[in-house]
Amino acid sequence: MLSSWAGERAATVRQIRSGRICAMCRRSLPQPFSAGEELCDSCRAERGLHRVYMSFVLRANRWHCHFLERDLQTVLPLKLQFKSHEKLRELAERGGCTLNLEARQSLDHGIEIGRGGIWLELSEEQYQKLNAGPSRNAGNA
Ligand SMILES: [Zn+2]
Repeated sequence: MLSSWAGERAATVRQIRSGRICAMCRRSLPQPFSAGEELCDSCRAERGLHRVYMSFVLRANRWHCHFLERDLQTVLPLKLQFKSHEKLRELAERGGCTLNLEARQSLDHGIEIGRGGIWLELSEEQYQKLNAGPSRNAGNA
């Protein structure tokens, strides 16, 4: 009995880790799955969070970042450039990227090969900045 309980729990954890069910309320999530812990729309809205995908690529010695909505189709207007990948890490941390082992590895790997992407959990304020467009020239370090 105990082992079946443990098995069930392990299955739940697996489903959360693979982004199949909400990490908070355990509701099943729509596809495509994001291969990482995720919240459903209502849990995210409750916490005022926006899930945004940051894509980065190294070109001409600069890291170019752009951001996509959760649907991975809609590009947000603000784009950033950094000289150093440390800034990229900083941005990821500030952007509420749950830097668990998996996220850290994919960030490290992306930096190593010169392109990659990670999921961020942005606050309303951070999200509005991305939506404000390139005129602000923010983070141009
Ligand atoms: Zn939920």
